[in-house]
Amino acid sequence: MRKITILGATGSIGRSTVDVVSEHPDKFEVEAVVGGSNVETLAETAKRVKARCAVVADATKLADLKEALSDTDIDCGAGEKAVLEAVDRPADVILAAIAGTAGLAPTYASLKKGRRIALANKESLVCAGQSFMKAAAAIGAEVFAVDSEHNALQQALMAGQSQDVTIATITASGGPFRTWSREDIAAAPAEVASRHPVWAMGAKILIDSATLMNKGLELIEASHLFDLRADQLDVVVHPDAIVHAIAQWRDGAVTAGLAAPDMRIPIANALGFERRLKMPYPVLDFVKISRLNFEAPDEERFPCLKLAKAVLRAGGPLPAAMNAANEVAVAAYMGGQIKFYDIYTLVAAVCSVYAGEGVRAPASVEDALAIHNDATKMAQEHLELILAKH
Ligand code: NAD
Ligand code: MG
Repeated sequence: MRKITILGATGSIGRSTVDVVSEHPDKFEVEAVVGGSNVETLAETAKRVKARCAVVADATKLADLKEALSDTDIDCGAGEKAVLEAVDRPADVILAAIAGTAGLAPTYASLKKGRRIALANKESLVCAGQSFMKAAAAIGAEVFAVDSEHNALQQALMAGQSQDVTIATITASGGPFRTWSREDIAAAPAEVASRHPVWAMGAKILIDSATLMNKGLELIEASHLFDLRADQLDVVVHPDAIVHAIAQWRDGAVTAGLAAPDMRIPIANALGFERRLKMPYPVLDFVKISRLNFEAPDEERFPCLKLAKAVLRAGGPLPAAMNAANEVAVAAYMGGQIKFYDIYTLVAAVCSVYAGEGVRAPASVEDALAIHNDATKMAQEHLELILAKH
């Protein structure tokens, strides 16, 4: 039996994780489930997986959670401190799937000797990747990729050493606006941007997928996870979403990670240890699939991708700053305050400030969070300017 704690248990990845764990009650026991504010779903989840502990991050919701779990002996907690206490409880695997940089502190606190961190929360790596990976190595914790492209790339990269990779490509489905004109994209509200053609996901990553910032964040995520340089990484659009990552080697060989587009597949991979977990999926019928299509991403219609590539090359404080500004911009777009391309304008404005001299690269996770907080403030000021112009 392995003990697992699920951070972000009520979200899209969290629910898929519950599905995987529920397939294998003989292999997993759930120690703790952590959610943001949805007490009802958290309580249901805790009961379904027979968790020992349930924690809601919203400190005002303790009484509600206790009430919802009053017919059980599940330990209840609420607030940031309780989240960190949940992370401290004994567990072999932490599934880190809190959305956004809010997940950084709990994910960082999850690092413990001998533990596996099954990492979905890409914003943590974008904000503090270097320090996070260094800390994981020093502590002796294993970081295992859950993001579908990275999970596929991790498997493809088992064929050799990172230094021998000529190019590692992650694929993008292209999002809901792949075939749209710039004018139509510019006018699209968040509800339309959230209609992803392939994946069902949380609210923030849906918008990131529409701007292709998600792919930009993923390039930075990949650079940290696999120790790859910017010039070894690339993105290609693949609307079929079957090939998730491709590694090309210096001897001309190519290895790739393929799977049906279902997050339970990479999650199951991250939760398998000595053996792969048996999952109820049909084999892919390649004759039926017949064709796999690839195209270059259009960085004119999706400037966030171009910006993120430049940020990956520049490094220093820029990834943390870009990520922070993006969180502010996406929230404003979802709230109907700004238009689609204002996301790019806002993020680029904040990045241009950090691109100047004088701000050093984050030396620690705390440092990265300080950059995150400063850049968040700056982004909020830029947002006010954009709103004043409207
Ligand atoms: P989601 O919005 O559906 O779920 C987020 C979860 O985090 C919820 O359980 C929410 O309650 C919790 N949460 C939010 N703020 C919190 C806080 N301050 N403290 C504790 N918990 C908090 O998001 P998602 O789609 O499941 O994505 C989660 C993460 O996984 C993101 O970083 C995303 O980029 C990444 N990811 C998601 C997918 C996907 O298919 N959904 C794929 C790859 C990577
Ligand atoms: Mg992905």
